[in-house]
Amino acid sequence: MPASPSSSAVTASTALETDEHRALRQAVAALGARYARDFFAADGTGSGPGPDSGPGPGPGGKGEPTTKTRHIQDLWQEAAKLGYLGINLPEEYGGGGAGISELAIVLEELGAAGCPLLMLVVSPSICGTVIARFGTEEQKRQWLPGLADGSRVMSFGITEPDAGSNSHRITTTGRRAPDGSGDWLLTGRKVFISGVDISDATLIVGRAEDSRTGKLKPCLFIVPRDTPGFEYRQIDMELHAAEKQFELSFDDIRLPAEALVGDEDAGLLQLFAGLNPERIMSAAFALGMGRFALAKAVDYARTRQVWKAPIGAHQAIAHPLAQAHIELELARLMTQKAARLYDAGDDIGAGEAANMAKYAAAEANVRAVDQAVHTLGGNGLTKEYGLAQLVTAARVARIAPVSREMILNYVSHQSLGLPKSY
Ligand SMILES: Cc1cc2nc3c(=O)[nH]c(=O)nc-3n(C[C@H](O)[C@H](O)[C@H](O)COP(=O)(O)OP(=O)(O)OC[C@H]3O[C@@H](n4cnc5c(N)ncnc54)[C@H](O)[C@@H]3O)c2cc1C
Repeated sequence: MPASPSSSAVTASTALETDEHRALRQAVAALGARYARDFFAADGTGSGPGPDSGPGPGPGGKGEPTTKTRHIQDLWQEAAKLGYLGINLPEEYGGGGAGISELAIVLEELGAAGCPLLMLVVSPSICGTVIARFGTEEQKRQWLPGLADGSRVMSFGITEPDAGSNSHRITTTGRRAPDGSGDWLLTGRKVFISGVDISDATLIVGRAEDSRTGKLKPCLFIVPRDTPGFEYRQIDMELHAAEKQFELSFDDIRLPAEALVGDEDAGLLQLFAGLNPERIMSAAFALGMGRFALAKAVDYARTRQVWKAPIGAHQAIAHPLAQAHIELELARLMTQKAARLYDAGDDIGAGEAANMAKYAAAEANVRAVDQAVHTLGGNGLTKEYGLAQLVTAARVARIAPVSREMILNYVSHQSLGLPKSY
């Protein structure tokens, strides 16, 4: 049996959701189901351009097209046309006027169908949110309609080789050009930045000198991919995903004054505004993958028989699957809470909930995938069933955008008031 979309999807409990949310889940699930079969049949390893390939907007449209990236490009475009990509962006700039709650539903349901769109975590959610909340009128007009209709994509770069989890240590620095033009000169290095090759620009987190105090403070810059001197190199990852990770380096690249998002004093607020959606969307990504894996395992356990009853009748197989289902459901509850707080404008309350949601969903996903692989016995490790590749993929949400340990640190210090070791 080829790896295909699950025939009995593990559906999300929608008891606490509105009718609109339920309808959105159903519609996105139907879209995902249409794409999933081809998505998983695609090799994703760079099979080269096919007859229908060619550069176009959206993920998969700007790098070397592979079978998998073409499917992603098509899905991205259709999701855009249906209004899902920009569902969280303001209506006046072409978005749907809803919130992160709705965008998280879109990502979870696509993932549960077997075709997650990683760039949803970044482009409309982090970058779209930061620009919608803090960008100048010009930046909003320039970027938001394209992010909403899928014709433009943005990546997000904060991680640096020598800073990692300690983002206070980043050294990417912007300074005003000495010629008085107001332009910026940006220098730095970034690592593990997703989707740079398929993005029109990367939202780079750096620092700039405060003209009053002389101290360095956070600033966000929009850096178009074709900026002279902006170099990106693909990192060889053990991930079967169409979205690749990149190392960036740039040395005194020149950016116009308008590359700075909003005003110079709001950098820290901008950063925090982007981090909650990032964590909530990472949780949705993990939830979708966990449901996808669980559905495969449940299907298999129901029909695979080597004694007198299907293996799913043995509690050693059934209970861990039930446990995985419970853990995913619990993680979704926290994700819904975080999204609701965020959409209600409670950034502080959302901060704790978003961290907890990302933690819970990532851990639930790692366990669901592990149990799913185990349930299939030897078939769990075959390419045909496509579950083994999820073992690595499931680890991503445990590490990024903030690691399990850093969330435990956050909860230890912020929620429990315990002292810091660092
Ligand atoms: C697939 C993928 C996609 C990514 N996409 C992006 C992207 O688009 N943009 C972007 O900016 N970044 C991205 N990242 C980077 C990601 O956010 C970082 O990998 C993550 O923040 C951890 O940083 P690090 O890898 O440098 O690990 P390190 O900071 O070196 O940490 C290594 C280990 O030490 C632990 N550790 C570190 N400090 C502490 C502490 N104080 N207490 C306890 N444990 C600690 C960590 O939890 C971790 O287990 C991506 C990463 C991956 C894997």
